Amino acid sequence: MAVETDNAHVELLERWPQGRHSLGWRLVIVTLGFCFFFTLVTVGVRTWAVWHEHVQQMDIELGLIEQVYRRTLTKAVWDMDQDAVEAHLDSAVHIESVARVQLTVLSAQHIPVVQVRSRTGWVDSNLAPVRRVPLVFSPYAGSKETVGELILYGNEDLLWSEMRSVVVSIVGFQLLQSILLAGLIILMFSRLVTVHIRRIALHLTELTPERLDLPLRLSRSAKREDELTLLVQGINQLQSNLSGYLGRQHMYEKELAAHRDQLAERVQVRTAELQSLTEAQQMVLLLSNRLIRAPYERLELYQQSCLSEVAQRLGACYALWYVREESGIYFRLAMHWRCETCIAPESQINAAQLAHLDVLLDQGGPVTFTSGKALSEVLSAYGAATFQLLDAEATAFVPVGAGDEQLGFLVFIRKEVADVWRPDEHALLAMTAQMLLHSTRHRVQLGDIMQTQEALREANAQLKELSRSDPLTGLPNRRHFDEVKNIEFSRAQRSGQPLSVLMCDIDFFKRYNDTYGHAQGDECLRLVASAMRGSIARAGDLVARLGGEEFAVLLPATDRAMAHLLAERLRQAVYDLAISHSGSSVASVVTLSIGSATFETGASTTFHELLELADRSLYQAKGDGRNRVVSATLKD
Ligand code: GH3
Ligand code: MG
Ligand code: MG
Repeated sequence: MAVETDNAHVELLERWPQGRHSLGWRLVIVTLGFCFFFTLVTVGVRTWAVWHEHVQQMDIELGLIEQVYRRTLTKAVWDMDQDAVEAHLDSAVHIESVARVQLTVLSAQHIPVVQVRSRTGWVDSNLAPVRRVPLVFSPYAGSKETVGELILYGNEDLLWSEMRSVVVSIVGFQLLQSILLAGLIILMFSRLVTVHIRRIALHLTELTPERLDLPLRLSRSAKREDELTLLVQGINQLQSNLSGYLGRQHMYEKELAAHRDQLAERVQVRTAELQSLTEAQQMVLLLSNRLIRAPYERLELYQQSCLSEVAQRLGACYALWYVREESGIYFRLAMHWRCETCIAPESQINAAQLAHLDVLLDQGGPVTFTSGKALSEVLSAYGAATFQLLDAEATAFVPVGAGDEQLGFLVFIRKEVADVWRPDEHALLAMTAQMLLHSTRHRVQLGDIMQTQEALREANAQLKELSRSDPLTGLPNRRHFDEVKNIEFSRAQRSGQPLSVLMCDIDFFKRYNDTYGHAQGDECLRLVASAMRGSIARAGDLVARLGGEEFAVLLPATDRAMAHLLAERLRQAVYDLAISHSGSSVASVVTLSIGSATFETGASTTFHELLELADRSLYQAKGDGRNRVVSATLKD
């Protein structure tokens, strides 16, 4: 700063006005100019006055000369004394004030005679005075005789020479006065103004914000008060104002900087909070998604995992989920997580232990404590002891529930005292409670849905069974038979294995009904069906009741001989039931006629044709006398 000031100082000195640029010099020029003008005017006026004075003086002198020469010349003319006349004229012209003398002598008979005496170099001019007098002689008393005329011309050269000396003295005096005045002015101006202006300029040049407190002082008497005093006061006032203004600016800048720092700090804190909040939200979102997709049977495990993850994010050693018992007296520890070194928490808490805490929990949001001491001030002594056992310091209680649906509460426990539970932690606590509430609801709903689904499945299975079986005999019905027959027929075609079908019909069953009644007929049907089921034991074989007293047996991978054998066994089994049938024309017991048809490899046909063939065989068996088996083979 000092170097800058020095530079400014040198620069100022370099630019310091010199010569005709300085104020003093200008003042001198103006003063001299004015003096010159004033001298001109003064010289003019005074010259004019002196000229007039000299002209008048010359006129008076000429008057005196005139008086002197009038008489002598008049006498000389009257006496016609030419010598005297000439002598008078010569003497007159030698007087300094006279430049020319002209005498006109009048005569009655002659023309007037003019005698002239002039100074050398005389030129006629009307500037000098001229006196013209008649020469009157009085030879005796009472008579007057004009003898001539005298004209005296003033000496203009004399006037001019006098004027010159006067003008020279006036001009010289005025010039001397002007120069002295200008010198005095410049001296006074320099002493009174220039010096101080330079001082002021230097002071202003050296002025910096740090030097504003140094007031401007001029080296002159303090008593003197003039415009410079006002200027100095003004500059000092300006400095003082500037200093105050800069001081205030400085203060404002400091305050502003402090505010800015605070703001930056707040922004940083807020950004960190927002970041944490976003992370918490993302975590909850992730956990929620996981819970939503969790299979029903593993939902509790997932909830447990949620609890542990949230607890670890919060830096807690315990995450406990107490669920309100139906009685409302106890809270049961439904789920919990604890760090490895922690002891097991109470599995049950009496509602009374929570004392005023339940009132706080009823408000719906998380209730947090920064230390175990703060917690024990709210809880009953017993409740406080419960949590002291867990070394609880910073602790958060979060109600899990909404409206009338209050499931219980979560507890997150840290073993260190906390300054504060941050907003993002509060948000995470609330979101976790919501998440667990929803997942619990979800679990209940899933349980209901699964129960309903199970019931539906069972009902469906029953319905399916019912729709595919015959209610009287329990055997597969025609629908079931139709489903299986197509499958087996396709398989036989693919595998090249034979497929046999037996069509069975009870003989004279109408008569049986007529004889023993319909109910007995039903019973008979049941017995026959049971016997048939008992005879066909191989897996894959199918015995079905097609309707009335007609049955069909599907025998995959069974050739004609085997089918015949099985049909015989069937027929025999029914016969062996020995159900009395007095109305039968073929036997005393209920008998069965069977038509067998076998589909052999390579036959290009349909199952319908196979069934028709079996029907025809049955028809033949009936025709041949009943209680028998007729076999046929379907081939190309
Ligand atoms: P065939 O030896 O020629 O077969 O003589 P059928 O009397 O057995 O012949 P038909 O087909 O004319 O008679 C069948 C009878 O079976 C008629 C009906 O009364 C009886 N029936 C059909 N379904 C049932 C049933 O579910 N229960 C009882 N009890 N009887 C039935
Ligand atoms: Mg029949
Ligand atoms: Mg019959």
